[in-house]
Amino acid sequence: MSFSDLGLAPELLQAIADQGYTEPTPVQAKAIPAILQGQDVMAAAQTGTGKTAGFTLPMLQRLMEFASTSVSPARHPVRALILTPTRELAAQVQDSVKTYGKHIALRSAVVYGGVHIDPQIAELRAGVEILVATPGRLLDHLGQKTVNLSQVQFLVLDEADRMLDMGFLPDIKRILSMLPAKRQSLMFSATYSDDIRGLAKQLLTNPVSIEVARRNSATETVTHLVYKVEAAAKRDLLTHLIKSRDMRQVLVFCNTKIGANRLAYKLDKDGIGTAAIHSDRTQGERMQALAEFKEGKTKVLVATDIAARGLDIEQLPFVVNFDLPGSPEDYVHRIGRTGRAGMTGEAISLVTDEEKDDLAAIEKLLKIKLPIQQPGQFERERASAPRSGGRRPEGRPEPRRDEHRRPEHRASSPRSTPASADPLFSRPYTPSSDATPTVVPPSTPGRGPKKQVAALFLPKAPAEKQDA
Ligand code: AMP
Repeated sequence: MSFSDLGLAPELLQAIADQGYTEPTPVQAKAIPAILQGQDVMAAAQTGTGKTAGFTLPMLQRLMEFASTSVSPARHPVRALILTPTRELAAQVQDSVKTYGKHIALRSAVVYGGVHIDPQIAELRAGVEILVATPGRLLDHLGQKTVNLSQVQFLVLDEADRMLDMGFLPDIKRILSMLPAKRQSLMFSATYSDDIRGLAKQLLTNPVSIEVARRNSATETVTHLVYKVEAAAKRDLLTHLIKSRDMRQVLVFCNTKIGANRLAYKLDKDGIGTAAIHSDRTQGERMQALAEFKEGKTKVLVATDIAARGLDIEQLPFVVNFDLPGSPEDYVHRIGRTGRAGMTGEAISLVTDEEKDDLAAIEKLLKIKLPIQQPGQFERERASAPRSGGRRPEGRPEPRRDEHRRPEHRASSPRSTPASADPLFSRPYTPSSDATPTVVPPSTPGRGPKKQVAALFLPKAPAEKQDA
């Protein structure tokens, strides 16, 4: 199937060709004709499936009749509203709107929190047909009457499940109450929980239901690896893995902001260019960190779940769970950053004994056993690798197992380690036991079978609330 079979206008086909896309993804093939016909859509599709173009292209076509080069704001009322859970996703969606709409005289704007509101007000005053927004900032604008939604005829809720997780349901309901009842509505969600179904019922009229992946089903492109390790050794192990395997682009997930900061500091100190993104960073810092990571200026991006939500980073080869997520669904979201668009990817998890229940929950959800390294491999690697630092003096206490979770003033060992050194080797040998760090063989051809990962699943635990 080609894009021209979908009934898209020449201006859009041109923009698609400019992007180098040759054929629609499954969600695009299903969603585009339905949306062009004016139907409401409920689509189960996560980031990486091409869903953004799946709703943006037909939305642009439906609005084409209103394209206008007039400078009068009155000729540019908001006709389409796209709500997203995070600032990063909002910015990415607006980029897509601009990219696919570049041959059409429709205006777009994005509004989200964490930045000054005045430039947004000026843009809204000048008039935009397509508004991408996070719920909180949109409500600010509505409160200040700097935006008018009375002519919205097209609504998209993107990553609806995450919006509910983040506690945006009341905000969404308030926003919905300010929209005209007669409109076309689309909802995209990676998961189908009862809450999502409830919201869909309120929002959508006779929706076409689109699923591009089976419930709890699979991409064939992600390989899972579990490294059993003590909490105190996680940071050194990660440095070791990144260096020994020459990893060039790694997205690392931590459960806490402080943990993310400390890990980024430690990796940077080990000579691995690293940035951190989480909800305490300013929007400018987050955007800059993401841009530098995408450009390859930093090798490692350490992120909390919320900050990483919806990130579109093409061909990301490695995702590391420095901490296992508290909810197994978040594991699926995290590893959804890799193995995209047919590329292979690797999801590496550093798992302590204390996290074994989390691991079991993930395995239960995915219905697979995640491969765990052979005991003793780690010791063999250490023995064969060059030593660069001395051993820790006898009698010096081992770091606490939960060290990485506690606030601390130093992000790493007080002993300075040369940037080129692998600090893993500066630790004393510890006899093999359950808690002894062990390592799975590095990912090389023939590293083991590719595993299926979930794409759709049931309700999840509440996430860190932030943003907008
Ligand atoms: P999304 O799921 O919307 O975040 O899109 C994931 C990535 O797929 C983005 O980088 C898009 O540029 C890319 N993409 C979207 N549609 C296509 C297509 N038909 N062919 C190839 N890449 C695509």
